[in-house]
Amino acid sequence: MAKLDGKRALVTGGSRGIGAAIARRLAADGATVAITYAGNAAAAQATLAAIEASGVRGHAIQADAADAKAQAAAVTKAAKALGGLDILVHNAGLGEFASVADQDADAALASYRKQFGVNVDGVFAGTVAAIPLLSDGGRIIIVGSINAHSMPIAGGAIYGATKAAVRQLASGWARDLGPCGILVNVIQPGPIDTDMNPADGPFAEMLTPLVALGRYGKPDEIGALASFLASDDSSYITGAAIDIDGGMSL
Ligand code: NDP
Repeated sequence: MAKLDGKRALVTGGSRGIGAAIARRLAADGATVAITYAGNAAAAQATLAAIEASGVRGHAIQADAADAKAQAAAVTKAAKALGGLDILVHNAGLGEFASVADQDADAALASYRKQFGVNVDGVFAGTVAAIPLLSDGGRIIIVGSINAHSMPIAGGAIYGATKAAVRQLASGWARDLGPCGILVNVIQPGPIDTDMNPADGPFAEMLTPLVALGRYGKPDEIGALASFLASDDSSYITGAAIDIDGGMSL
């Protein structure tokens, strides 16, 4: 028996990058997996095909994480399609890097609202919709960032604040939901090679030398940690924020 056999998971932002790798890994470990995506239907279909190639059912839902109603509806649709929900992975997110010292005030506020909308409001709306569906043994896993506590370059104030916010939501939710047997944890990646942060992009020249292992991480390395946190092997871990950053924030 695979370690997630019979489990039903929703991964937000599962069409590309880290979310797609998490969705593929949960499916490879036996879970049925629904994903959401913002607009890239072709990428969502590709992830769906990879999920189903593992021999489990999959489902793809277009939903803007910043839209609370759409996010709640996506949780309900996923649970309906899969016959219930055991694992919710909040991965959908975006980052806009600009120094407040150089930014026009209107642009700074628009970026603040956009990043908090997806990275924080989406996590909040999805969680409150999922709680009535989850039961003893349920898992909420949030993809945060080491930028919640560590900011090695200029321009990341808003992004880091969104990731600190979800880390603290997880602490509170772990307390609230512990008595129900629902575990809440945060994965805090360092630089991971995706469309958002390519290993050969302009950020990479600044960031790679700061990583103890001297390289970007791979999305599949985050998938492995997500699968562990979704499984019975993590049954005494809740409220944790786990850095997975190749030793960047030492
Ligand atoms: P990508 O840009 O490669 O992929 C983003 C994914 O999120 C896509 O599936 C995208 O859907 C989806 N998405 C974006 N905006 C929305 C939205 N409004 N509603 C629903 N889905 C949305 O990003 P990564 O894989 O790099 O990042 C994933 C998560 O990991 C984010 O939370 C990010 O902050 C975090 N992270 C990433 C790091 C990195 O170095 N890459 C480091 C630390 C944390 P679509 O394909 O339709 O556009």
